[in-house]
Amino acid sequence: IITFNKVNKWYGNNYHVLRDIDLTVTKGERIVVCGPSGSGKSTLIRCINRLEEHQQGNLTVDGVELTDDVKAIDDVRKKVGMVFQQFNLFPHLTVLENLTLSPMWVGKMPKKDAEEKAMEQLKRVRIAEQANKYPLQLSGGQQQRVAIARALCLKPKIMLFDEPTSALDPEMIKEVLDVMVEMASHGITMICVTHEMGFAKAVADRVIFMDQGQIVEQNTPTEFFNNPQSDRSKDFLSKIL
Ligand code: ATP
Ligand code: MG
Repeated sequence: IITFNKVNKWYGNNYHVLRDIDLTVTKGERIVVCGPSGSGKSTLIRCINRLEEHQQGNLTVDGVELTDDVKAIDDVRKKVGMVFQQFNLFPHLTVLENLTLSPMWVGKMPKKDAEEKAMEQLKRVRIAEQANKYPLQLSGGQQQRVAIARALCLKPKIMLFDEPTSALDPEMIKEVLDVMVEMASHGITMICVTHEMGFAKAVADRVIFMDQGQIVEQNTPTEFFNNPQSDRSKDFLSKIL
């Protein structure tokens, strides 16, 4: 469903941030991306919905090649949901309004339908009773679950997560991971940048390890954790485990 073919990206003229990325993600696959800070993990997943653009190689998402073509970019963004480390909710809108905004104004859905769909998703992330609160009245874990529900309202085929739990207090991490585990069981294609190795072991089909803009290693979680191949991945694992 996603194919990177020799993708290269630079920031400015000379910072080579992604180097010859070859990666194929199949439909329904669950991938965890890890690696040291600055290795290009966020950049890699942001290219998938064109929050960043690549300069060389081909990147195809669900049959659409990403180029400067605005229609292609729109097409891809309709299929790809994203959740960030900072929850990026609109503070002046209620939880429910955060969820219905895009379906109503971009998707032209009638308000009643949008609200019904939004409540379904809020139930799914177990936060329906907070629908009329404002984001800042919620805990970090609750806000992140709202952000996940908001992404799911757009019925994405692919979900991207960029360190969704790293801004959370420890006791809230689990409630967000539980929601992600539940999502994973429904067959959606997921790419998660995370250092939550318990999550990786529980749900990932494949772990990708990046360093200095390259995919250095990829393997099943069991193999990757028990038997890392490169010195760089061994070094990385010794620091986080
Ligand atoms: P972290 O684990 O800290 O989130 P990361 O693996 O997600 O790191 P990226 O955010 O993809 O890394 O950044 C890769 C490199 O590109 C870093 O050296 C970063 O400083 C640089 N970089 C990121 N965004 C930009 C930008 N908009 N302009 C210039 N350089 C950038
Ligand atoms: Mg990052």
